[in-house]
Amino acid sequence: MILALDIGGSFIKAAWSSAPGSLAPLGRVATPSRSLDAFIAALAELAAAAPARPKALAISLTGVVDRDSGRLTCANIPALHQTILAPALEAALGLPALIANDADCFALAEAAEGAGRGRHVVFGVILGSGVGGGLVSGGRLVNSAGGFAGEWGHGAFLPAVAGDPPVLIPAFECGCGREGCLNTVGGARGLEALHRHLHGKEADSHAILSAWEAADVAAGRTVDIYSDLVARLLALAINITGAEIAPVGGGLANSEKLLSNIDRKTKPGVLGVSHRPLVVRAQCGPDAGLIGAAALGWSEGAYERNSAGSVRG
Ligand SMILES: [Zn+2]
Repeated sequence: MILALDIGGSFIKAAWSSAPGSLAPLGRVATPSRSLDAFIAALAELAAAAPARPKALAISLTGVVDRDSGRLTCANIPALHQTILAPALEAALGLPALIANDADCFALAEAAEGAGRGRHVVFGVILGSGVGGGLVSGGRLVNSAGGFAGEWGHGAFLPAVAGDPPVLIPAFECGCGREGCLNTVGGARGLEALHRHLHGKEADSHAILSAWEAADVAAGRTVDIYSDLVARLLALAINITGAEIAPVGGGLANSEKLLSNIDRKTKPGVLGVSHRPLVVRAQCGPDAGLIGAAALGWSEGAYERNSAGSVRG
């Protein structure tokens, strides 16, 4: 039995998983964001409210655990930033604690119960305000020990020219400290930056996509170049990882037309592509963090196996 937690900057959502694929909500509490002691106390209270003593905590949060030091980078919750969280929770609560990035939990959720169900290698893609991702192979996170696997949005590798007719793509500064990352053009803020660069006009991502769907020429040019850039690097990521499917979440995934445009442009760059869907809308919705956290708990061995090899809580 696993206590799954989706920890956001404002709220902690909790759920109880008595077996892989089963999830019962336990409600939510405000995130104590300034004090580690208060944060641990909140988790202890949630664990005490569970119907039985959990065998493990499995946590989704916005942050990355350093593979070598175990230290957490978590910008939106100051109480957790730069802590070595899993051992602190284990010592305080007497339970194993598993922690993964929210994009990684999204990928785990889609692999276990979403669009990637039944596929061996699933590359979960986030097209939100920026670009994120997570990689699952055989039901397990590739970076379950921490680190940045699946972060295809960073690295200075954006093509310098794109579009038909071609236009120079500036190496915009990225939040990671590099220039020319896909993250600078691949999320909603990037779509807006591209539109500003191409047309000198301010518009939010929703307005750009609506105008494109209404056959506006300028928005069409922006979305065409946007889709080319995303598709080029997504095809590369899929070729490197061998992903069989790339479920997409985040705000931009609400546009089915945008996803099918990206899918159409990605497939020619993918080796051995079949006629199966490749770039698809994610299916787990707002509970992906909890579903993924529970999947993290089960996939990383927070359970016992009986002599027949089946899983029991
Ligand atoms: Zn970057």
